[in-house]
Amino acid sequence: MTTNSAFRVAATMALAGAAVFGPIAQPVYAQVAIKRSPSGFNLFSVQQDVELGQQSAVEVERQLPMLNDSRVNTYLTRIISRLAAQAPGAKYPYTIKAVNATEINAFALPGGPMYVHRGLVTAARNEAELASVLAHEMSHVVLRHGTEQASKAYLGKAGLSLLGGLVGKGNTTSQIVTAVGGFGLNAAFLKFSRGDELEADALGAELMAKAGWDPMAMATMFAMLRAEQGRDPSKLEKFFSSHPPPADREARIRTLASSLGTGGSQQVVGGFATVQQRLGGVAVAPSTQPQYSTSTGTVAIPTETVTINVPAPSTSFSRFTHSGGFFTIDFPRNWRAYQSGFAVSLAPEGGVVELSNGQPNLLYGAIVNHYAPFEGESDRWSSSLQRSYTPFEDRTRPRGFLEDATDDLVRTMIRANSYLTATTGSARSEVIDGAAGYSVLMNGRSPVTGEDERVTLYTRGLPDNHVIYVVCISPARDAGVVEQTCSRMMRTLQVNDAAAHRSTGNTFRPPHD
Ligand code: ZN
Repeated sequence: MTTNSAFRVAATMALAGAAVFGPIAQPVYAQVAIKRSPSGFNLFSVQQDVELGQQSAVEVERQLPMLNDSRVNTYLTRIISRLAAQAPGAKYPYTIKAVNATEINAFALPGGPMYVHRGLVTAARNEAELASVLAHEMSHVVLRHGTEQASKAYLGKAGLSLLGGLVGKGNTTSQIVTAVGGFGLNAAFLKFSRGDELEADALGAELMAKAGWDPMAMATMFAMLRAEQGRDPSKLEKFFSSHPPPADREARIRTLASSLGTGGSQQVVGGFATVQQRLGGVAVAPSTQPQYSTSTGTVAIPTETVTINVPAPSTSFSRFTHSGGFFTIDFPRNWRAYQSGFAVSLAPEGGVVELSNGQPNLLYGAIVNHYAPFEGESDRWSSSLQRSYTPFEDRTRPRGFLEDATDDLVRTMIRANSYLTATTGSARSEVIDGAAGYSVLMNGRSPVTGEDERVTLYTRGLPDNHVIYVVCISPARDAGVVEQTCSRMMRTLQVNDAAAHRSTGNTFRPPHD
């Protein structure tokens, strides 16, 4: 097997490469919202994206027939070098290799490894069309969609306590990955949402334009893929299952592409026809059907039943001061504070229970955290509109960020704890430390305690359109005293709006293995 380093595109090399092609005029961007940095809920660090991607690459290359043709790979590498030079944000060690399979497919792993099936190289009608797919894949890497999807999948298995930064000994990166589908082709980080696709199209089109290809080729490529899918659906099954096409995707690409233009200078790497010819002479791998497994990983569901027995919250309060100066909140003197990044969990002895899978569970207490959106904008809208539940039922007018964030948090909590439901009509407007907020109640029978559980979510807006939230959790039998304690705590919350971080970064990092 070829080593990764053979096709590694170091950031410095990529930049030097750009100089060879001369300065590229900056196109004018008219009213196109292009997301250039990741902002969703993510348990992983940028460095962990790179490590996960490299571990996955080993697994993927065991599962797929690699083409191992240095001329083809060199050509592909030259294309992605030009794109990488234009990629915003963290510099990832991008690599690209051709897969000897006739299916039309391409994919990228977190942190940089990219793959394109020969079927896609053959299907493209010119270099710009091929580059458009690679630009789209690279954009998934830049926007960290892979590890965002894996993080959301894990939240759904590990539960609410992750929100409070309570990380068990079991939460090593490889255990998280194993829990959500492993490192191979079935990994959670190879499946994107419709919102991810739109974001990758938009940033990809921009990368193309800046690198000197006509972004309209992305639209013609997409139209061609759809026509091809009509003729032979099996050829594109994998591509469209990992890249679900939103309904108006092609139209959006066209609009975007025409607004981007090409900055006047179109340049190709050159040699596309030669590469296609060369592929014609390479035998298709005998095992053309790559082994995509459909099994998913598992998280051990704890079978033990936990009984919550904690002393009543002290009526005398201590002050918790966030180490970043973000907020202060008073809490019962007989509770403890566990801070992790933006987040703090406040709980009495016995309120946090470590289950046999190593995951700590907050069953009695409160979590205070900064809101990082769990879903991209379009997903937030489409999923809330598809569900009958939402505390913010008025769909006739656009919601503000506070409604949007609160709704997103409620849905995320319910997804992570399927036994919870939001109490109809429980959403109330609140004023919290002088700013607008909401409270929403949730309840349900906890599988861990076997008892009814009550959860209250408070949200409060921040000047930068972010949110600070407080979640109070207790068995229903203690809900009276805990909710009273919680509303008293809410009256002591003081937020330093200036210290509220602009970044919606992670609340914690899983420890390394
Ligand atoms: Zn995609």
